Formats: sequence, structure tokens, C-alpha cells
Amino acid sequence: MVIGGLQRFSLIDFPGKISAIIFTLGCNFRCPYCHNPELVDPKQYAETLQQDNVMDFLKSRTGKLDAVVISGGEPTLHADLPDFVQRIKAMGFLVKLDTNGTNPDLLEELISRKLLDYVAMDIKAPLCKYEEIARVPVNMDAITQSIELLKHALIPHEFRTTIDKSLLTTKDIIDMAALLQGEELYILQQCVTSKVLDKAFMENSKPYDDRQLDNVVTQAQKYVKRCFVR
Ligand code: SF4
Repeated sequence: MVIGGLQRFSLIDFPGKISAIIFTLGCNFRCPYCHNPELVDPKQYAETLQQDNVMDFLKSRTGKLDAVVISGGEPTLHADLPDFVQRIKAMGFLVKLDTNGTNPDLLEELISRKLLDYVAMDIKAPLCKYEEIARVPVNMDAITQSIELLKHALIPHEFRTTIDKSLLTTKDIIDMAALLQGEELYILQQCVTSKVLDKAFMENSKPYDDRQLDNVVTQAQKYVKRCFVR
């Protein structure tokens, strides 16, 4: 595991729980709106944290925090993620994983070893448009496998999409909701453009307005049980 950041306290990243967030270094996508460029672009890499220091911090928070969120970057790029999570679980914390879904084998291992209590998977775009948003070649079988794994896993999870009119149309969003047919929770999030990977995107970004969001949420809810904008 290469750890690029630690947020010591969060009330919003694990639903209903007080958590700390560990940010792993490195990502295999290059989403223009990524607001953690220092974890994604090697030229901007943050200074790494010692794993033992992070573990010592977590030990000091047992009984005070409920959970640990493993985010990134893309955590599943790190082959030792399951053993790392196991050490965190052994301290009594719940664990949430944020993932872009590109490593279904590791996701399956984490699920089968009962190491996860919540998973948030990004859906970047309708399948035919994925590479346009991720800006790298994408193994689409891996993405669909991860979606299917989570659909059938008996652990709480959410699918979520970062939206912007310059990247995704309302039809794109409805197509993604249709891909998630029958799912419990689909969350849409507007881009935060204060810090992004691609500065040109910052200039071209066009947020959806409230009326458009209401309309798209209503249409998405024909496919998923709950859809809302965060
Ligand atoms: S938004 Fe997520 S998947 Fe995309 S580049 Fe950033 S860390 Fe990677």
C-alpha cells in the first residue's frame, strides 16, 4: 500500500458513521474533474505517509471512530489492500471502499473475505462513453463484472456518478441508471471545480441547474429505488 493522504475525521464519507479516510496513491484513470490530482498525476504526487504511522493513528482512535474509508486514487491498484484492510478490521473498525471498479478480482477477494462493510463504486459514463471520461483505455468487462459483483453482494453499497453538462447529457445519466436497473441507490454529484486534474475542464465546466437535476432524478428513479444529488 502506498498512502498519499489521511483525513483524520469525517462525518459524511461513511453513511451514518464517524470515519477517518485513508487516500491511496496512484490511479489508472484520468477523469478531468478529479479533485485529487496530487494522488493521480505522478508529477503532482503528494509526500507519502508511513503505513505504521497510519496504523498507530488508527489504534489511538479505537472507540472514538466507527469506521475507516479507503479512497484514492484507486485503492484496488494495491495488491496488498486485502491484508491492509484486514489489519484495520482487526482493530474493530468498519471499512468502506471507494473504487472505480477496474479490479473486480480484488473486489471479489475483499468481499469473500468479509473485509468490507460498504462500497461506493463510480460509474463514469454509459459503457460506450467510458474512455471519453476516464481518458485512458478501459477494460469494460472489468467494469461490468464489478457492477454485477456489487449487485449480488450482500453488503451495503452505492453507485455514483460525477456529472457535468460538458461531459454527460441527461440521456447519458438515464442510460447509466438503466444499467443499474433494480439497484437500491444511485447518487449524482456535481463537479467541484475549485481543484481539478484538467485545468481546461475547469473553464468549460457547465453545472446542471436545479430544474434539470429534478428532471433527471425523476427519470432515473424509474430504474433505481433511490436517486438523489449529493
Ligand atoms: S476521479 Fe477517481 S477514478 Fe477518476 S482520476 Fe480521480 S481518483 Fe481516479
